[in-house]
Amino acid sequence: MSPNVRGNRANIQNCANLGASIAHIHVRDENLKPTSDRSLFKAVLDRLDETNVNIIRQVSTGARGGSASSADWRGQMLDLNVEMASLSTGSSNFPTSVNANSPELIHDLAQKMNDFGIKPEIEVFDGAMLHNAVYLKKKGILKGPLHFNLVMNVPGSLPGTPKNLMYLVDNLPEGSTWTISGIGRSQVQMVTMAIAMGGHVRTGLEDVIFYEGKTLATNESLIERVVRIAKATGRGIATPDEARDILSIG
Ligand code: MG
Repeated sequence: MSPNVRGNRANIQNCANLGASIAHIHVRDENLKPTSDRSLFKAVLDRLDETNVNIIRQVSTGARGGSASSADWRGQMLDLNVEMASLSTGSSNFPTSVNANSPELIHDLAQKMNDFGIKPEIEVFDGAMLHNAVYLKKKGILKGPLHFNLVMNVPGSLPGTPKNLMYLVDNLPEGSTWTISGIGRSQVQMVTMAIAMGGHVRTGLEDVIFYEGKTLATNESLIERVVRIAKATGRGIATPDEARDILSIG
């Protein structure tokens, strides 16, 4: 689940109560520009400490956090108390910018995550990123079992279609776990397919702004919808500790 603060105050305890087991965390600076600034990540994590909520903390090392392509900038928050971090294993386009992740950056971020005992969530925006992650696992740079987030339907990247999703899932290495991110209008279809296929789900305001038509989404309403679809199809909702087991964390 992806509780970004955009247009509403994400209440992480509410999200956890509704069924969220992972908090995917981005931060923005005083001009609301996404950043990798460690002090801002620390402020969010300190707030989580205060609320004492049981949720897996996953920080973003994504390209939106700054054009500087060094792991020193993009991975500056990895020494904080977190269990997971995102790791894109290739480059693609966002609607108005480049999702730039050089081989050297990927290697250095993965190394930092290994050093700090952090489980990477491999962010796959197209097929090449998946195959690169498999290659990095063969080289010993990524440790199995791998966990993937399949990001579907970013404009400029892989469209969110059933065939594209099947292609990615068919090519996951044996023993991998995976979640889906269905961006924008693809969300409900992609989430439903992932649940039916035995995958897991990410949702939240990073991925979806509108709940339905012109109605703005909230993190809570998005989580409730995922829980409803899961229950209707006979899937359970993992607690954070069950999610740690599923993901081989700790
Ligand atoms: Mg993100």
